[in-house]
Amino acid sequence: MSTKKAVQSSNYYKEPGPKLDKESPFASMMERFQFAADILDLDPGMFQYLASPVKQVIVSIPVVMDDGRIEVFEGYRVIHDNVLGPSKGGIRFTPDVNLEEVKALAAWMTWKCAVVNVPFGGAKGGVRCNPKELSMAELERLTRRYTANLLEIFGPDRDIPAPDMNTNEQVMAWIMDTYSMNSQKTETAVVTGKPIILGGSHGRKEATGRGVVTVTLAALNKMGLMPNKTTVVVQGFGNVGSVSADLMYEQGAKVIAVSDVSGGYLNQDGLDIPAMILYMQANNNSLEGYTGAEKISNEDLLELECDVLIPAAKEDQISKHNAHKIRAKIIAEGANGPVTANADSILEKKGIMVIPDILANAGGVTVSYFEWVQDRQGYFWTEERVNRRLNRMMRSAFDNLYNVSEEFKITLRQAAYVYAIRKVAATLKMRGIYA
Ligand code: NAD
Repeated sequence: MSTKKAVQSSNYYKEPGPKLDKESPFASMMERFQFAADILDLDPGMFQYLASPVKQVIVSIPVVMDDGRIEVFEGYRVIHDNVLGPSKGGIRFTPDVNLEEVKALAAWMTWKCAVVNVPFGGAKGGVRCNPKELSMAELERLTRRYTANLLEIFGPDRDIPAPDMNTNEQVMAWIMDTYSMNSQKTETAVVTGKPIILGGSHGRKEATGRGVVTVTLAALNKMGLMPNKTTVVVQGFGNVGSVSADLMYEQGAKVIAVSDVSGGYLNQDGLDIPAMILYMQANNNSLEGYTGAEKISNEDLLELECDVLIPAAKEDQISKHNAHKIRAKIIAEGANGPVTANADSILEKKGIMVIPDILANAGGVTVSYFEWVQDRQGYFWTEERVNRRLNRMMRSAFDNLYNVSEEFKITLRQAAYVYAIRKVAATLKMRGIYA
């Protein structure tokens, strides 16, 4: 376990470790972080503090497999920052997760929480495994041992995990139970993204897509565009993409194209999104074979002329290779890191408003915060109350960033980093450095 270390240099801290691809999400994040730090004329010591994680933990996780063999997995938990409050961030179970990736994602969570004004720092965790090759019983033993190894890190007032790639409500329930057994009391607030019967929140599943739509409507309003007169394209038709498409459809927008791994589906007269969701649900979560639209490629889909483009599938979809071909007025980043740093200036020159991921998809962490609040109160809200408060927080976060972007004459993305770094740095300054 290593703790935050001072870096002896008068220059800004440079992340050690493997040489990063210029367009990797982490490299993109660091470039944007550096830009915001320059605008704020951030003290170099403060920069070093914010660029290095508070704590990085690697655990080894021995699991007795169903056939009696012992297999040892590697797990990680990185707390990037806990200046604003306990740290918050998901846990992913993937075959290639590594410490560098988890460090980058933990920092991302710090900025995301600061942007939407939830009182959390940033963290992330992962276990290097292929969950598709594990039985339910093996997955449970793996999750419980990972949790047991991190009992001193996790806690409702310390560090609060959540689902991420290949982890779900059931995994969160096991984490909650393992932590509770060791505390000898039920501690629902130790983790979010739980099933509703175990202290989960109404509205959590739809929260990210709902947040995407709230900020998209705010952006349309700033541009003087009416939702019911806009055209929308959505890449990805999973949790975030399908909810975003559905809520834009409900607003009267014409959703002309959506896609998933099976490809893109286009209808210039507008797709029947509720029908497509029913089709996808009945078809093993895939749009493969849907006949109510013309089939196009995912690359062509991104380049369609539209008012709003919502990339909600995966990272690095709009880069310097295709940014000049994008014909949307607004890009709302449902996914994490769908636009690379190299594409930022190309889109800016084209006058495209990009609503950055750390704002656009922060609806999920906002309702995770509501879940934690409800668990601590032992009093549960209706879905209507959750949605109302989510809309209010997302709308106010959009307005805050919009004002910063006007103040400094910068893009919304740059404003998001300026806002988040300024907030964390100001809080840190008030708290001071404990010696
Ligand atoms: P999901 O697994 O439910 O859906 C992903 C969708 O993207 C699927 O429809 C899949 O078929 C599609 N897809 C995958 N590769 C594609 C490709 N190359 N082209 C087009 N479509 C492709 O995942 P999700 O929860 O909706 O997450 C999507 C993105 O949003 C991820 O970047 C995730 O990190 C981010 N995000 C999710 C949440 C959340 O609460 N679910 C919160 C914040 C950010």
